[in-house]
Amino acid sequence: MKPNEISWNTPPNGKNGKNHTNGHNTAPELASPAPLDLTDTDLDLSELIDQMGDEHVATATDTPLRPDAFVLSDEEKIHKIEKHFKAIMDTLGLDLTDDSLKGTPHRVAKMYVKEIFSGLNPRNKPSARLFENKYKYSGMLVERDITFYSNCEHHFVPIFGRAHVAYVSSGKVIGLSKLNRIVQYFAKRPQVQERLTNQIAEELKAVLQTENVAVVLDATHMCVCSRGVQDVNSSTVTSYYGGQFAEGPLRDEFLKYVYGK
Ligand SMILES: [Zn+2]
Repeated sequence: MKPNEISWNTPPNGKNGKNHTNGHNTAPELASPAPLDLTDTDLDLSELIDQMGDEHVATATDTPLRPDAFVLSDEEKIHKIEKHFKAIMDTLGLDLTDDSLKGTPHRVAKMYVKEIFSGLNPRNKPSARLFENKYKYSGMLVERDITFYSNCEHHFVPIFGRAHVAYVSSGKVIGLSKLNRIVQYFAKRPQVQERLTNQIAEELKAVLQTENVAVVLDATHMCVCSRGVQDVNSSTVTSYYGGQFAEGPLRDEFLKYVYGK
């Protein structure tokens, strides 16, 4: 099976390691897919919406959030989503008095807010405590096969796979489990894989105070497997190589650890 490879070789926000949360909203240059021509008059709106979803077009590096995204409390959001989800089920003709179904709107609402989309809320961002690199370890550190579960923002169905991240210490080191937590925090949002890759990389650069980070995500998209083209064998690989990783030797060493080649 040949993965669809999408790669950034240069940092999207320039070379100074700016974090994506600082208000910069620079869209990375995506190698693929090409942006849709929104002026194409041959497509009606419904077709255009389908096509944007199936092409998985991302518009920005930052997750598009409104300024009032966290005015409502979690409990208020759960209550509101529960009502809306109930209306969806009802519209589909499901009998909400059925014992098996009647708790579903609440379960889904709670799962959205507290679990699978909890990474939207900056309050849930893992705090990153750094330690002095006392052993003066100067090689790269690779954390591979970090399992993550996310959701496609175009179809709201799962994206799941493995993340491999690496960095070369700038004099500070981070607890290993923090690398997993950073991946999982950004995964718990409606996502496109390219943006997820980039958000993880920008966070690692900011936290570790270095440009020398690498991120590879290898993921399966349920919107590709279970609907649309229904391709169960394809996976999508995205990568980000910052600083020294943008040069050949360090990247090759990283990929050797990840893929064993
Ligand atoms: Zn999708």
